[in-house]
This record gives sequence, C-alpha cells and structure tokens, in this order.
Amino acid sequence: MNAPLSRPPLSALESLRLGSRYARLPDAFHTRLAPAPLPSPHLVAASADVAALIGLDPAETMRPEFVELFSGNRLPDGAEPLAAVYGGHQFGSWSGRLGDGRAHLLGDVDTPHGRLELQLKGAGPTPYSRFSDGRAVLRSSIREFLCSEAMAALGVPTTRALCVIGSPLPVQREQTETAAVVTRVAPSFVRFGSFEHFTAEDDVASLRTLADHVIDHFRPQLRDASQPCAALLADIAQRTGELVAHWQAIGFMHGVMNTDNMSALGLTLDYGPFAFMDTFDAGRICNHSDTWGRYAFRTQPRIAQWNLYVLADAFGPLIGHPDRTRALVDDHFQPAFDARFGALMRQRLGFATAQRGDDDFIGATLGLLQLQRVDYTLFFRALSRLPGSVGREDRATRDAPLRDLFVDREACDAWLLGWRARLASEGSVDALRQPAMLATNPCYVLRNWMAESAIRRARDGDFGEVRALLDCLRRPCDERPQYAHYTAPPPDWADGLTVSCSS
Ligand code: AMP
Ligand code: MG
Repeated sequence: MNAPLSRPPLSALESLRLGSRYARLPDAFHTRLAPAPLPSPHLVAASADVAALIGLDPAETMRPEFVELFSGNRLPDGAEPLAAVYGGHQFGSWSGRLGDGRAHLLGDVDTPHGRLELQLKGAGPTPYSRFSDGRAVLRSSIREFLCSEAMAALGVPTTRALCVIGSPLPVQREQTETAAVVTRVAPSFVRFGSFEHFTAEDDVASLRTLADHVIDHFRPQLRDASQPCAALLADIAQRTGELVAHWQAIGFMHGVMNTDNMSALGLTLDYGPFAFMDTFDAGRICNHSDTWGRYAFRTQPRIAQWNLYVLADAFGPLIGHPDRTRALVDDHFQPAFDARFGALMRQRLGFATAQRGDDDFIGATLGLLQLQRVDYTLFFRALSRLPGSVGREDRATRDAPLRDLFVDREACDAWLLGWRARLASEGSVDALRQPAMLATNPCYVLRNWMAESAIRRARDGDFGEVRALLDCLRRPCDERPQYAHYTAPPPDWADGLTVSCSS
C-alpha cells in the first residue's frame, strides 16, 4: 500500500511566501507593475480546496487581511507583480501583441503538487490593456471562479480559482456594472500565444528561453528527448487532444478558443462566454459574439488542431521545416483525442472494456440525443441507474427515468436494446457498473441559468447562492436534497440568456 502523502500543516496568511520564477525571465517576457488599488473590497466567495492546495488554512479566507491581499491592495511577502506579454490568433486572424491586459502575476508558492502561480485577474490596467480598463466585472468573475472549480471537480484539466473579491467600483460595459478580482492558481499561465509572440518578433533567443522555461519547470522528463523542443510541441499537442476530449465528453463549450486562451500545459484557461450543454445540440454556439460559429461545440476539436498548427508554426525556428512541426501535431493530437474521448464516453456509458464498434455506438448515441433534443447531463445520469437487463413486462417502469427524457419513447427503447446487448457482451454486472456510472456522470453542471441566478443575487449583495453553487459543484456526482433544484430543467426566465465576450 502507498504511504499517504504527507502534507505540511495548513498555515496562516502571514506565512504565505512567494517566489517568482516567471519574474526571473528576461525583460522581454513581462512588465513589472503593481496592481491598482480596489476601493472598499469585500469577499464574495473563496474555495477552501484551493486555499488548502496552496497551504492556507481555509479559515484564513474569512479574515479581512485575505481580502486585502487578493484584491491587490496589499502584496504577499515575496510578490513581484508583473503582466506577461503574449500574442495570439483571435477568431482565426493574427492580432499582434496582446498580453495580460488585466492580469497581474504575483508569484509562485511551493506546494506538495509543485510550485503554483497566483494571478490576480481584473486588478487594473497594464501596458497590454490597449483601450480597455484592466478590470473584470462581478458577473464574469463569478462565472470564472465557479467554472474553474466545477471543472476541477469533474476531473477536467483547468486553472483553479482561489477567490472572488468584489468592490463597488463602477465598470462600464454595455451597462454599468461593478468590479471584481479573481485570483487564479495554476502551475503556469503560458499560452500558445506566448510562443507566437516571440516568433512574430523574430526573437528566437526568447522563444528558446520560453521553451526551456516550460520544459525545465513543468516537463523535465522531456529534457532527455533527442530534440526537447520537438518533444514539447508533441506534448502540448497530446495534452490539448486530451483536454478537448474531456470538453466534448462532458459537454463543455469554451466559447473563445483563440490561441491566446490556449494553455501550453493543456489546461482549460480563460473562462469567458463558456457553457455546458443543456439539450444536446452539436452545433450549439455559446458565445453571442461568435457570429459564424467558429467555436461551436462540434468544431472544438478541429479548432484545437488549427490552433496547434499555429503553435507548430511558432515553433518553426526551434525545430525546422513547417511540414515537420505540423506532422508532430498530426501524430499526437488526433490519436490522443480519439483515445481519451473513447475512454471517457465508454465510462459514461458504463462499458468497462473497449470493443470494436464502440465508436459507432458513441456516434449513434450522440446522433439520437441530437435528434430527440435530450438533455445531455440528465441522459447519462438517468442511464446510470437503469438495470443492465430488464423483463418485457416491467421495462416501461424500470426505464421510465430515461424514457421520460425522450419525446419518442420508442427511439429510446430501440437504443436501450443496443446498449444492453453491448453490456451483456462484456458480462457487465449492475452492482459494479451502476456505482461507477453514478461516480462518473454528474448530476450537477454549471448551466448558464445557475450561474446567472447566483450572479443576480450577488449583485444585490447576497453571496449565499454563489457559495452554495461552489459547494454543490465541488461534488458534482453527489446528489443532495438541498440542491435538487439544480437538476431541474432551466426555468422559463433563462430562455433568452446569452453570454458574449463582454466581461
Ligand atoms: P480575452 O478575450 O478575455 O481572452 O482577452 C483578450 C485580450 O484582451 C487579452 O490580452 C486580455 O488581457 C485583454 N483584455 C480583455 N478584457 C480587458 C480589459 N477589461 N482590460 C484590459 N485588457 C483586457
Ligand atoms: Mg484571454
């Protein structure tokens, strides 16, 4: 048996000490500057899990000093705040220099899971803000906070979020809103666009330094490869494939898969107009600003690959001919996506083995959900409880939880015949399969209406629902009576809800 991982005791805010590996990189990588003061800051919500992850006693999040630190009004010991430079392709076109226009990297903290960077998002303008204010509104901050933690709980690679700090400071968007700061936590916030920036600047020395930084700190095993930079590109392609497989399997839409929002570590990064699938529609476009559906649900894998080609081109000066860098993407992205997506979908369907024909079965299942307009999350949850075999006479009753989600019940019955035959072919045992499916298929995902409901209350100064949602979503497969309303169909008022790039 493995010895339990010994953890250092959780400590008080006063013992938080930051280093800053990113600040040690040359000046071309960043601009050093302090966050702007946030007037009258207050705690909206904090994640006890993330506090513990960075070694803080969760009780510390209730202290006024916590609010001071994570509003940007006071700096933790050792902090060397900076905004990082990067570029990116937005909606398919090169945008030139972008950079952290509203994010300040404070530094990194040593944890049993390696060093983790702390970054304030919305803490004021930087040299990369262009014509914007460097702020984030409460609405988008709550969405990023909740979704980061929801995704982590679903096992999807993601940046984490420590807290949201609110303020009465007015911020002008389509309407006047108020400001907030989210503290994000991740091993690194390096993006595809970080590499693109240096290639665009013809700064091959910095490009190489960046690749070395990522390899040395996050992928040291790649040092032994015959060509570490080629191995890094292959690693990013593979992890991106796995990441997007997770998104497709769970029904997550990112909404703005620009290359500046794509993590070099394969994490979900920059939560904006994201959405979780309600009724299954592969063509769904969650971002109201995405007129042409570039980032529709079904195109996410193709866009990820396109983004990787852009990254491959940026790696050109390190590796060589574009055909070679693009071949690395081809060799690693699609196989990783296919393998992970197949594995995750088999898990969702309750199949313990891989069989020929599974891909077709998965495809047919999604086709059926699309045709029947079935809720994606509720489908798998209801399926988890069905028996693997059922007599003709009590089929209608036993299968009712799933059949009730279909308009055409016979279409459901026909699909169930195939599902049960597939289960039988691997000698599936209900007593093992059902608990495994219930531990895999969430009953709670962060639907837009849930976030919106919590946001509306938060605007009135009531943060109870934000905190309740966090508690609910951190154990997404654990059905609890107090959260029963979160499994109900979206309320009528949520019909016209849209989210856009405005944040
Ligand atoms: P996003 O679409 O949120 O990924 O942002 C794209 C770019 O715009 C990044 O460089 C951001 O830092 C920058 N940006 C977005 N919103 C703001 C803002 N309110 N103030 C300054 N920069 C921003
Ligand atoms: Mg971004």
